[in-house]
Amino acid sequence: MIKKAEKKKGFLIVYTGDGKGKTTAALGVCVRAVGHDWRVCIIQFVKGTWKYGELEGLKRLGKLIELHVVGEGCVGILNDRKDFEEHRQAAKEGVKLALEKIRSDSYELVILDELNVAVDLGLVTDEEVEELLEARANKLHMVITGRNARDWLIEKADLVTEMKEVKHPFQKGIKARKGIDW
Ligand code: ATP
Ligand code: MG
Repeated sequence: MIKKAEKKKGFLIVYTGDGKGKTTAALGVCVRAVGHDWRVCIIQFVKGTWKYGELEGLKRLGKLIELHVVGEGCVGILNDRKDFEEHRQAAKEGVKLALEKIRSDSYELVILDELNVAVDLGLVTDEEVEELLEARANKLHMVITGRNARDWLIEKADLVTEMKEVKHPFQKGIKARKGIDW
């Protein structure tokens, strides 16, 4: 039998895989959470510019949602050492901010968007992710998104969904669409 305390524990949710829908799913959780007056903090790693659609959309959802973009833009030129260090610095700031937010006890839901990608690129260490998870109060729900989630994180999570690419317009050379991709 599952103990009552166990049932009340916040979930660790991971959306990973190579198919589209990971960030979208996290935003869906966000909408649902606001419907229950939960306070939500979203920290987005890696990408420097949050896509405009959700930025404005989240604003319209009101004051319950706080959004921080901590990336330094797309990590493209990884062979450039200086660039990598800059990206790493931005990611470190993101981890620091996430720790503060998680420890603040001011939210019911914290979303760390693309954290898996930051780990995969070597911008955030496994130890840092462990620290973030340990900082979590019992009742806090947490969503971590991004492809290539670590096996140990999948093992540790309560809910894991792997998005699988079946078809994507990009395969036909169709670029990102307003309202669908950004
Ligand atoms: P979304 O933000 O649409 O939910 P995602 O979070 O699952 O997508 P990411 O890996 O974060 O996907 O990729 C970000 C961008 O790449 C999005 O604009 C998305 O539309 C696009 N994308 C996602 N999956 C694919 C795919 N399988 N092929 C091509 N482009 C993709
Ligand atoms: Mg995403």
